[in-house]
Amino acid sequence: MALLGEFELIARYFTQPVRRAVLGVGDDCALLTVAPGMSLAVSSDMLVEGRHFVSTVAPERLGHKALAVNLSDLAACGARPLAFSLSLALPTADEAFLAPFARGLLALAERHECELVGGDTTRGPLTISITAFGEIASGTALLRSGARAGDDLWVSGTLGDARLALEVLRGTVEVPGDGFARLRRAMEEPVPRVALGRALVGIASSAIDVSDGLVGDLGHVLRRSGVGAVVEVDALPRSADLAGQDEVLQRECLLAGGDDYELVFTAAAERRDAVAAAARNADTPVTRIGRIEPGSQFRFVDAAGRAVIGPATAFDHFLAASPAPAS
Ligand code: ADP
Ligand code: MG
Repeated sequence: MALLGEFELIARYFTQPVRRAVLGVGDDCALLTVAPGMSLAVSSDMLVEGRHFVSTVAPERLGHKALAVNLSDLAACGARPLAFSLSLALPTADEAFLAPFARGLLALAERHECELVGGDTTRGPLTISITAFGEIASGTALLRSGARAGDDLWVSGTLGDARLALEVLRGTVEVPGDGFARLRRAMEEPVPRVALGRALVGIASSAIDVSDGLVGDLGHVLRRSGVGAVVEVDALPRSADLAGQDEVLQRECLLAGGDDYELVFTAAAERRDAVAAAARNADTPVTRIGRIEPGSQFRFVDAAGRAVIGPATAFDHFLAASPAPAS
């Protein structure tokens, strides 16, 4: 196992030439400039081994996911990614981990022209903390507070696969054939919906990305907007792998499963064509799953309009009885 020092490690794996930032890795600060009329969108997310990912995850996928979850937050605001910083705690400076980790991380960064401009590196239990910076025209960001009664409720992609993958890892369910490889990929290599988020600026009235499950994350939007919602559970988009599971598990994964990194957003009913065009331009499928209602009730119905009892809460790191994935 090849070991190297802190500065060698930073130089070898995390020093990138910058094109858009004024100054990148190597000085006391990085320097970013945003154009006049633009705001800087800033978001941080931390991944801790045993809490947010299993120790068996391929390092390349872990690098991808660490940035993807941050880009997903920028997407939920409608921002265009600019740059990010990376704070790493590592038990050892193991190149067999660092090389593929950096590869996965920087490949996603490159795809979104999002530059690594700085960070911090220390020894410790494996923890990855990224702060991503994006730009958005001032006053146009998609916020959690913008949903209005009568708006349609939409979601991108499909929900529930990451949670189903976790259940397979825990040994509580089995999926046939190569299903697990697909589910695991959904959990470990989520696709941040950056293009969709940007395309929805000026169209959506609110947005959030689903990291802790639909119920919890949509709940944030409803509280911040002072509205209620009805969700048609049978309309929730799901993969063929999830659709093959029993109904109770499907609902659990769709409503309370986390780690989806899809966008849930609202838009006025008159904007349906604009939403469809935005989704087409972003090459991202979207599904209408319900509507915003006056009041504060959060209801779930089946295709026939009958009330369905949904899981009451989302994943909460401090309320959860036991640590999430650990294997
Ligand atoms: P300081 O002592 O000011 O905290 P460091 O010695 O920690 O600076 O870091 C040196 C340079 O390397 C800084 O520009 C910092 O932003 C950058 N850096 C440190 N760790 C990382 C990392 N994991 N990824 C990218 N840049 C990093
Ligand atoms: Mg430092």
